[in-house]
Amino acid sequence: MQGEETLKRVDGLWFDADAVVLRADDTVFRVSRSVLAARSTVFRDMVAFPQPAAGTPDVETIDGIPVVRMFDSPEDVEPFLRAVFDSSYFMPAPAPIDFLAVLSILRLSHKYGVEYLFQRALLHLEHVYPVDPSPHRPLHTLATNHLGYQAGKVELDLRAIPLIRQVEATWLLPFAFYSLGTYYFEEVFPSAFWATFPEDLQRIFLCLQMKHIRMIGAMHHCVGEASPSPKCRSEDQCISEMAVFCCTSILFNSPLNDIEERVDLDPLLMWDQSLAWDNFIENQICESCRLKILAEKEDVWWDLWEQLPANCGLEKWDVLKQRRQVVLGP
Ligand SMILES: [Zn+2]
Repeated sequence: MQGEETLKRVDGLWFDADAVVLRADDTVFRVSRSVLAARSTVFRDMVAFPQPAAGTPDVETIDGIPVVRMFDSPEDVEPFLRAVFDSSYFMPAPAPIDFLAVLSILRLSHKYGVEYLFQRALLHLEHVYPVDPSPHRPLHTLATNHLGYQAGKVELDLRAIPLIRQVEATWLLPFAFYSLGTYYFEEVFPSAFWATFPEDLQRIFLCLQMKHIRMIGAMHHCVGEASPSPKCRSEDQCISEMAVFCCTSILFNSPLNDIEERVDLDPLLMWDQSLAWDNFIENQICESCRLKILAEKEDVWWDLWEQLPANCGLEKWDVLKQRRQVVLGP
């Protein structure tokens, strides 16, 4: 057998059997000092101080190990440390992981410079805040995401948006704001996370609702103003059906509905799973008018998609995607 002194210890893959105790509020974690230090230089500096002897006054120790304080919430620290130490906990998307855990990992991987976890968290979030809708068309497939992110939970967007801005992942913001804009004031204002939502972001949300109403108007305009196809087989009926559909739909999708009968202010998904729309487009108008309206609606849809960044005061999609490329690569 080879003598120990002749074995080669590979630098960076030789962890001392040392432990460090991290403390966040009243929660403590005992983890490998070496693994932490290998994951980020911030951690290396944090845990690198010489270990004072246990029992030294004024030094907090647990099991004789000095305690390093983290000024983060335990709710953030736990998923973050699990992601660092358990390779099966936070796998690349679309492996299931809780949306709020992704936010915690995003926040702390950015703060402590753990680049691969930061990038992974951003890629997870693109499944609910897409930069390119094509893989998700029709967009209601977003509802089947792997993050447990659900429509109707306004606090998820209220928690995500300030963090996404803080870590400068601006390309995720247009759809995150779009999502927030689908809620009514009555749903947003009572949330505890609205009270802590930064004031400049609050102003963006307040203007956003008007823009969503305008977008809903634009979708109806494209159907209501559509002229029958030159090959229309029954002009009077097609014109009349277009008018009837628009009159009914615009009222139904109006944000002035009672909250009990609410519909999302969701112009991009408005007719995605709508029986009224399906009936109108499939049964009420002729084939050539149907194709013409579908094509025009598609054009308007993409115009609205292109407007999303401007709706929340951001630069155009291509500028945001360049920034994405710098952080995540092509
Ligand atoms: Zn027709």
